[in-house]
Amino acid sequence: MRIVGANVFDVQNGFVRREVCTDGELISFRSGDDAVVEADGCWLIPGLTDLHFHGCRGADFSDASPEGLAVMANYELSRGVTQICPAGMTLDRAALLAMCANARRHREEAAGGADLVGINLEGPFLSPEKKGAQNGAWLRDPDVELFRELQAASKGLVKLVSVAPERPGALDFIRRVGERVCVSIAHTTADYETALAAFRAGARQVTHLYNAMPPFGHREPGVVGAAFDTPACRVELICDGVHIHPSVVRATFRMFGPDRVILVSDTMRAAGMPDGDYTLGGQAVHVAGRRATLSDGTLAGSSTDLMACMATAVEMGVPLHHAVMAAAVNPARAIGIDSRVGSLEPGKRANLVVLDRDLAVRAVVFRGRTVSGDL
Ligand SMILES: [Zn+2]
Repeated sequence: MRIVGANVFDVQNGFVRREVCTDGELISFRSGDDAVVEADGCWLIPGLTDLHFHGCRGADFSDASPEGLAVMANYELSRGVTQICPAGMTLDRAALLAMCANARRHREEAAGGADLVGINLEGPFLSPEKKGAQNGAWLRDPDVELFRELQAASKGLVKLVSVAPERPGALDFIRRVGERVCVSIAHTTADYETALAAFRAGARQVTHLYNAMPPFGHREPGVVGAAFDTPACRVELICDGVHIHPSVVRATFRMFGPDRVILVSDTMRAAGMPDGDYTLGGQAVHVAGRRATLSDGTLAGSSTDLMACMATAVEMGVPLHHAVMAAAVNPARAIGIDSRVGSLEPGKRANLVVLDRDLAVRAVVFRGRTVSGDL
């Protein structure tokens, strides 16, 4: 197909008016057929990659249910999230193994929906003092053997693992797994020096910056300051309008620049569902509007999918080009899939989203086929 008239996302140059052609599953210099799509006034962006979400449409990755994972992959694809890297909660060993094996089966069976490009192990190597909505019963010190078991059960699908660097053995863990997998600092009481030591050992990311960690203080800069001082480190940000104040979202994009922020949704199973009572990692969660909380008021994930988070960032004053960098380009770079997805260059996979003027999803093209909406 040949898409004409759209403002097309370009990594280097912002948005430009040009045609985009697809041939089979790929973006190409020439269209593979005679179909012409008029997209006057629309934005054309690459499909997004969500590196950190737990569930949606009633399903949760931690359930280890084949049907549930298929529901999640289909829902995310319909929202223009064409690559997914679902995140596990803090669970016991057997449940983590089942979750990893379920992802492996989903991928081997090509079970449909968005491409499952990895697994994010958010738990269990986190701090009990900053556990947020993670279940404290299963928290433990970083354990290379357990990590290897999970990686084997998934057949190498684990792309991200979160660690609280103050836990015993954390630096050794980071040194041993950090070359192959993106180690992300999370749910931590670490001060600046401890966080910096973790980055020097090979950690490359921060899980939901600001949430479940000490704040950025002027004498105690903590993880936020150490991340800023480490140019190779990227930071996740939950832009659902609940987790982070708009002023801090704007400041974070300015501070870290558009190449280092990764928007994540952190959705739980209520995303795409009505308000009501749900669970997350075995704990009861109440969802009202965009707010998901445990009974004590602790935030428990979000209910706003990544495309809606991206639009929310723009409403908050982040330029659209930077928001797309953070939702499509940077996450793909973080797990090394950017040679295939995340931009609209010939040779890349034809995973595209057409947004109307106010950023509502008009259509999703996946591997060259229109899978949602109308073109
Ligand atoms: Zn978390």
